[in-house]
Amino acid sequence: MTERPGGSDVGRTETQAVWNEELQAWSISGFKWFSSATDTDVTMLLARTHDPTPAVPGSMREGSKGLSLYFARVRDDQGNLNGVRIHRLKNKVGTKALPTAELELDGMVAQLVGDQYRGVKNISALLNITRVYCGMGCTAAMQRFVLGVKEYARRREVFGALLKEQPLHLATIANMELQYRATSQFTFFCVAMLGRIEVLDNNLPDVKERDIPLLRLLTPILKVWSAKNAFAMSQEAMECFGGQGYMEETGLGRAMRDILVNTIWEGTSNVLSLDVLRTVRGIIAPLKDQPHCIKSAQSIGESLDLISNHFTTYVTLETRKLLEASARGLTFAMADVISGALLCEHSAWSDGKAKARPGDTIVATEARIDRIVAQRWCEDLDRKIAYQINALGNEDKYEEDKLMFGLNDATTVTSKL
Ligand SMILES: Cc1cc2nc3c(=O)[nH]c(=O)nc-3n(C[C@H](O)[C@H](O)[C@H](O)COP(=O)(O)OP(=O)(O)OC[C@H]3O[C@@H](n4cnc5c(N)ncnc54)[C@H](O)[C@@H]3O)c2cc1C
Repeated sequence: MTERPGGSDVGRTETQAVWNEELQAWSISGFKWFSSATDTDVTMLLARTHDPTPAVPGSMREGSKGLSLYFARVRDDQGNLNGVRIHRLKNKVGTKALPTAELELDGMVAQLVGDQYRGVKNISALLNITRVYCGMGCTAAMQRFVLGVKEYARRREVFGALLKEQPLHLATIANMELQYRATSQFTFFCVAMLGRIEVLDNNLPDVKERDIPLLRLLTPILKVWSAKNAFAMSQEAMECFGGQGYMEETGLGRAMRDILVNTIWEGTSNVLSLDVLRTVRGIIAPLKDQPHCIKSAQSIGESLDLISNHFTTYVTLETRKLLEASARGLTFAMADVISGALLCEHSAWSDGKAKARPGDTIVATEARIDRIVAQRWCEDLDRKIAYQINALGNEDKYEEDKLMFGLNDATTVTSKL
């Protein structure tokens, strides 16, 4: 998708698709600025479609409404590249095991996927998968960090005691464990929903009215939240190993560089937070009618009420800008509430399991840990959420942001002062 004028702003895509009567296929030409599909067999791509019979000869639809989704093989049967010239491999900070390239396309033979001009909508199914995959990658990395840090704390002795016996270090690790467990719950909730959508008939009421809109909303939230938290945890993990953590041979540096990309590819934090803002408006109403979709999520309903009340206030273009400035806060607030609800639900399930198996000390201990985790996560959650939601659309703060960006850019503000 990503081209020089736009990765987030795909409406500025320059690549074009022309119908080739002889080949009975589309011929695609343009320049893809980032492609991590360099060594795959097939690829999906967006291109601006030349309408064979345009209203005005030679004209094309502008913006994202002119884009269609195409499928192409990267090589033909003889192994030759299908109209692709590799300009160069990107010199990346991390993910070096995955080659990302700048590609020139010149007559790439491709097939249209889905309806013409519905490219952005059609590729969103794929984006759901890749963004859930980002969440999964972050969860896996977090677990690896926590396990490594615990193992080190069992062996490293400082000031006459093992690290695991130092209360402050123990508290640091407990916080990491908490974050990992919350991310894990949120990720697997999305995975389960994605599974239902892929396996079940999409016309079933539960799938159509609940799973599809819910996943549409939760996927960008998961992606933004897990990516930011996983990177923060990679720093904490490195510090937990002391000076040794900074050494390349521990692998922590590589893990940190690799995990960092999740904040950027498949949509940056800001761009996806704005996506949440757009989606939330249409989705809140159906969700509120489905309280059983997250059984213990009383607080979700209340938070959604708070959010939707704010939405009705910000309808004009100017006030919409105010709302946008706080989209990240909204996204993080929703992630915190949803994972809190899922942790409570998991704790209730774990408790039931322990009651059904009296005398099983392992199950009882697991239930106790799950209860502690849910309680800790939900402590003060309502206050935190209320603060984040109340910060939505703060006009004074927006004006201050403009001023802080630089005096020359804030003439409208200075004239007001
Ligand atoms: C290692 C790697 C591999 C990649 N592989 C692929 C690939 O295989 N295929 C592919 O298509 N792309 C790929 N990408 C590209 C990636 O998806 C884009 O770089 C990313 O979506 C950001 O787009 P951009 O570079 O245009 O940044 P920009 O959109 O220019 O963003 C710059 C900054 O502005 C912020 N911003 C942008 N718009 C707004 C707004 N409206 N409001 C507030 N803030 C905003 C962003 O959050 C960001 O901080 C890859 C990127 C990397 C780093």
